[in-house]
Amino acid sequence: MLFYYLGYSRTRNLLLRLKHQPVARFVTYHDLPPEVVGQFRAHLHFLRRNTNVVSLDDFLGGRLTSGKMNVVITFDDGYKSWVRVAVPMLLELGLPATFFVSSGFVGLTAEGETEFVRSKLLSQPDDSGKLTGGLGIEDLKQIVQSGFTVGGHTVNHCDLAEQGDEDRLRYEIAEDKRRLEQITGKPVAYFAYPTGKYVNPKIRLADVLKESGYKGAVTTVSGFNRAGTNPFFLHRELTDASMQERVFRARVLGNYDAVRSLKRGMRRVFHQR
Ligand SMILES: [Zn+2]
Repeated sequence: MLFYYLGYSRTRNLLLRLKHQPVARFVTYHDLPPEVVGQFRAHLHFLRRNTNVVSLDDFLGGRLTSGKMNVVITFDDGYKSWVRVAVPMLLELGLPATFFVSSGFVGLTAEGETEFVRSKLLSQPDDSGKLTGGLGIEDLKQIVQSGFTVGGHTVNHCDLAEQGDEDRLRYEIAEDKRRLEQITGKPVAYFAYPTGKYVNPKIRLADVLKESGYKGAVTTVSGFNRAGTNPFFLHRELTDASMQERVFRARVLGNYDAVRSLKRGMRRVFHQR
């Protein structure tokens, strides 16, 4: 009974909110190796048919619809597959997107790339052979020239929660922005916290980002973004191109949020007893 009640009221609230106030869901991709390209295409077709895909500029400028879910498409790290797969497909479907790049991963030799992937991107070094490699300088320019947004992701995919040296941390954030702006010739206004770590015990990361000239940052904390959401702690779904379309749809529309909040609610009920 309780299950049904909490589930129903939560779901009803979500629907009411969607009806009256524009909300946005942010989705995340990383590399797009050949085996996930078909699934990725299915995701994009779903988004184009059923949601209002907007750029980060549109989201922060309040240019949203209240009749459909607004969606911001994002990519992290800086993979070669972005220019081979993502850019042509997004252009074909007319969808905007933001690409968050660790500038230290751009324009490397094959050995340099392997080393960067092993030491900075992966927790499992054995997976390095499965990645499509890093972007070249011209690739990065092409992404911007095609009309997409490029954002910062630190020079070395820095663990911002662990970095205790403030100068080093500021360098990772500000130097990355400077390099990306130098390559693309455009201002870089948005940031993605590497591996979603947005809290440092000693340093207020949002302050460092603001001082570096950033206007917003995305986490990997699931949730709806709306007009009042702190632009330096934007919610983002940790989706992936290998995700089944059914699961992806649910994440985009927030269908699992009710279950998650119900679980939290039930935990609270049992703790009170
Ligand atoms: Zn990353």
